[in-house]
Amino acid sequence: MEVIKSCPFCAFPYPKVVVLPRKAPERFTIKYMVVCDYRDGGCGAASGWCASAQEAIESWNQRKKKYGQSKT
Ligand SMILES: [Zn+2]
Repeated sequence: MEVIKSCPFCAFPYPKVVVLPRKAPERFTIKYMVVCDYRDGGCGAASGWCASAQEAIESWNQRKKKYGQSKT
């Protein structure tokens, strides 16, 4: 699985993948999202819901690239 890059907004290094609760309707397949969780010290930014964890991570990582805030 791809590595989740640090947050482009607050530089929090550990954004994480969250999954909709299993009790959600089966037909609701868009259920993975990367968030910069404020409860972990992040800013609350999110990738938006995706169909797979991989997709959510790619979406998150691409947004960072798009905004060009990488320090490297
Ligand atoms: Zn953040």
